[in-house]
Amino acid sequence: MNDEPILQGDELPIQMEESFRWKDKACIEECEGFCCKDRSYLMISFHDILMILKSPYAKIIGIKNTCELFEDNPPLLRIKKSQNFEIVIPNICFRPIGAKMGALPEHAPSNICPFLKPLGMVYDYHKEKIPNTAHPLAMGCILKDHKPDICKFSPIGPMRSMETGRLSYCHVQPYEVCPACNSNGKVELKTYLKSLRGVNIGSKSLFHKVAMRHYRRVQSGHDQSNFNQVLRKVYNIDRLLLDNNYNVQSRPSYRLLMSILYEAASGKFDLWEAFVNHLTKGNIELFMRDKDNRKCLDY
Ligand code: SF4
Ligand code: SF4
Repeated sequence: MNDEPILQGDELPIQMEESFRWKDKACIEECEGFCCKDRSYLMISFHDILMILKSPYAKIIGIKNTCELFEDNPPLLRIKKSQNFEIVIPNICFRPIGAKMGALPEHAPSNICPFLKPLGMVYDYHKEKIPNTAHPLAMGCILKDHKPDICKFSPIGPMRSMETGRLSYCHVQPYEVCPACNSNGKVELKTYLKSLRGVNIGSKSLFHKVAMRHYRRVQSGHDQSNFNQVLRKVYNIDRLLLDNNYNVQSRPSYRLLMSILYEAASGKFDLWEAFVNHLTKGNIELFMRDKDNRKCLDY
């Protein structure tokens, strides 16, 4: 399992020295954002959720917390269970076109990512000048540098083994007639990876350790439904905070949340229960300061 990119179709393993067809500019000059349309969901990670919340777009449209991502109608994000690994994963919920208001994307004839916008609007938001070579119908991601890592990496899919955690890559053409992948341009994998700025594989490897621990227990026949319940609550962590009269500034660090999840994936819920108890008693600061809790970060 990787950190949950959706890899579909012809996924081919690729090595650092190998090249693949690619032309960066095609996304702007020759495309209407095909790869961000015509699917129902896109799996992302908890780290991606935090990045979306930090994006200028979220600020501009007034999204301040995880509740507003998960609980609007229709929601921007939805939690779904990965059948392969029996783990719940957040997904961007594509917007149904041609269906009645509030319908889920699987009930619509066609869908579009809610973050896909006309390219002129994307450049305006980010106070940049749209290139004059842009395709007249070009669309782009309004999240820009805050887009999910799966989108930043495309057409490369980072894969992590569920047994060893080892990272490898595969090539996945994002769309059948993707102009960038059908161009004459070529790029070596290692050059392509270097060119990706702001992609933080390191932080996501923490989640992968959690996922590996969970999956090992699934394979040994343990019921991991309690872990999945904790995971659901962590994805929408701000709901817990707001329900207990805390604001999002009190959100525990990513690392601390991963520690809580790591324990829970191992069938130990003490840390999670301590967190919730402190939260309901109104002394979450005490939990954060607790030295014993910090020790568990060294997993
Ligand atoms: S990756 Fe391909 S399909 Fe996606 S926007 Fe770029 S050119 Fe279009
Ligand atoms: S988040 Fe951005 S790049 Fe990813 S599918 Fe949506 S519009 Fe496309």
